Amino acid sequence: MNDGFEELVAAIRATGRKYDLEKIQKAYEYAAKMHEGQFRLSGEPYISHPVAVASIVLGLELDTDSICAALLHDTVEDCADKTNLNEIRRLFGEEVTQLVDGLTKIKLLQVRDKEEEHIENIRKMLLAMNRDIRVIFIKLCDRLHNMRTLSAKKEERRRDIALETMHIYAPLAHRLGMQKIKQELEDLSLKYLDPIGYEEVLKLIDKKYGASAGLIENAKKMIEERLTEAKIPFEVESRTKSVYSLYRKMYTQNKNFDEIYDFYALRIIVETELECYTVLGIIHEAFNSIPGRFKDYISTPKPNLYRSLHTTVIGHDGIPFEVQIRTKEMHEVAEYGIAAHWKYKSGEKSKDSIDEKLRWIASLLETNDNTRDPDEFINSFKTDIFHDETFVFTPKGDVISLPLGATVIDFAYAIHSAVGNKMVGGKINGKIVPIDRVPENGDIVEILTSSASKGPSRDWLKIVKTSEARNKIRAWFKKEKREENIEVGKDELDKELKRYGRPYTDKQRDEIADAVGRIVGINGGADDFYSTIGFGGLTISRLTKTIKTEFDRVCPPTETEELPAPDITPTIVSKKTNGRVKRGSGIVVDGQTGCEVKFAKCCNPLPGDSVVGFITRGFGISIHKQDCPNALAGRKIPESADRWVEAHWELGDNEAGTDLFEAILSIKVRDRIGVLAEITTMLAEMKVSVLDVIIKQVPDKGFTMVNLTVGCRNVSHAESIVARLRTLESVESVCRGSGT
Ligand code: MN
Repeated sequence: MNDGFEELVAAIRATGRKYDLEKIQKAYEYAAKMHEGQFRLSGEPYISHPVAVASIVLGLELDTDSICAALLHDTVEDCADKTNLNEIRRLFGEEVTQLVDGLTKIKLLQVRDKEEEHIENIRKMLLAMNRDIRVIFIKLCDRLHNMRTLSAKKEERRRDIALETMHIYAPLAHRLGMQKIKQELEDLSLKYLDPIGYEEVLKLIDKKYGASAGLIENAKKMIEERLTEAKIPFEVESRTKSVYSLYRKMYTQNKNFDEIYDFYALRIIVETELECYTVLGIIHEAFNSIPGRFKDYISTPKPNLYRSLHTTVIGHDGIPFEVQIRTKEMHEVAEYGIAAHWKYKSGEKSKDSIDEKLRWIASLLETNDNTRDPDEFINSFKTDIFHDETFVFTPKGDVISLPLGATVIDFAYAIHSAVGNKMVGGKINGKIVPIDRVPENGDIVEILTSSASKGPSRDWLKIVKTSEARNKIRAWFKKEKREENIEVGKDELDKELKRYGRPYTDKQRDEIADAVGRIVGINGGADDFYSTIGFGGLTISRLTKTIKTEFDRVCPPTETEELPAPDITPTIVSKKTNGRVKRGSGIVVDGQTGCEVKFAKCCNPLPGDSVVGFITRGFGISIHKQDCPNALAGRKIPESADRWVEAHWELGDNEAGTDLFEAILSIKVRDRIGVLAEITTMLAEMKVSVLDVIIKQVPDKGFTMVNLTVGCRNVSHAESIVARLRTLESVESVCRGSGT
């Protein structure tokens, strides 16, 4: 079956340029093998598509590597799958691989929402994603061929593709000055976007052209004679305006078809710039020109590099037509734009050719003129080529532009300060990531928020890159500082009160705070005391005596309490400083390490336990045991079902590891003097660190519950501790977890 490759080879030979035909042949064979058994919707073998794209690429006079990349552009299905890409690297080298990789990334880009305000960002992103602009050239060729064969696609897909072409790719071609490709893309898009309007314009063209084509031919002949007389070597071609540009003039500028003077154009191509002006003189001598229609784009090029002389004259039969006069070089730039400057000819490609182009674009940027296209061609190049922006998507498909190096937190604040302030985590392309992760071009970033979030963390100020995010976080702290400080103050007081080993309620704590506050001169109540502590205006360590006195007053020791709680305090304190307890690490969440995790207090998972993650308040992921009652119940709640995520221990059961994890042991003991000492002595023998002790009353007369927090390596370590404790006579029962 003919897939067009032979024609491609013939066309390559016909250019007379130096191409590596062997490499191109190899790329073709590889692509043919990869696409074997695949067919296009039109029924043709799939390989005919990449071959056709390669032919268009050849027409742009791009190099061997570009032709190879065009042949290979659909062989990689998935960016994550590096097998194909590695093979391509081995067979065709780094350059081809980079081009193919770039093309694959664009292909996988799902632009769902095409609101006008985002389209410019999408175009920029396409450029920013690809340092090597050849990727864009090849992509435009790919899109052109897809548009030429669009009729095979389903109706609704056609519209989508046509719309995307009209909004993104045609303007891109225009920016790059590739008029020929731009026009064809526009005409083909129009055909699917407004079939009726398209047909109407086509008919008008036919009618007008049919009636006066001969007259234009007369004018053309006359010009040819004059130029030959003047001994100027030239080529002349006639063209009619593109369907889309006529459509636009008629429908958006509301012009009558007969008012369009440049419907016909004769293009005269000469050798030198001087000859352009000579020819202009000859034309103006031979025909009457229409005033105000002369434009000199040679002395003042258009921003997209277009150079030419334009004038509109009236033919001897009364038909107006436009004459464009330019040199061969100007013509190439007009047709192929920057691609014409980008010609990579085999053998003469140098390492710094890209830098040369950048310098060239940079020099372009410096030339200011007032005729500049309003669509900021130049600005877009500045940002795109020099890569100082990153373009990422919201899950809805909106494109957000961030400065280079901006993190997930910056993204959240770029959306809205409320999103940033309520952020509890982030996902990139569906995977949970640390919130300081820097998204790449084209990533889909999703912010997980929770109304239970306590707001941003001060650490974020060190992480964020944008001043917008920094200012919004600062604003939050300014406003919310008091509440945050109150929380910090409460925590500090709690830490102190827990040392006394007797239970107390929040209300009792507030009473203590209020009382201590009054003693030190804070009369605004408990919250004022907390906030002063949180702010650092007072330190708990200087108030311990007063606090203890107030604690004993508010929560006097109960009758059943016979345990000498204070005497174990020193043990706990010293162990606490020695114990190397590692927290928030060693967990892989949804395939990611280094996530912000904390271990759920309800079940305190240890290495070896099967675990599950829950995206929770504050920020970070709370790790529960899979059989934790809270986890089991929580996963049944439909509203939060999608916040439960897969998690496992990085090192399995941490057998060889030295990291310690907190485990809570609930020990039911007989009320007996010295029972705590017995327990702590045994633990000391086992070299187990005791991190916290909480004593609770239980309804059973004669028993007390001791909740012990100890440092454990893993599940079996905890089990061996439990087994040893059970051997003690005063111990009624021991189990892991906070019990009750
Ligand atoms: Mn393709």
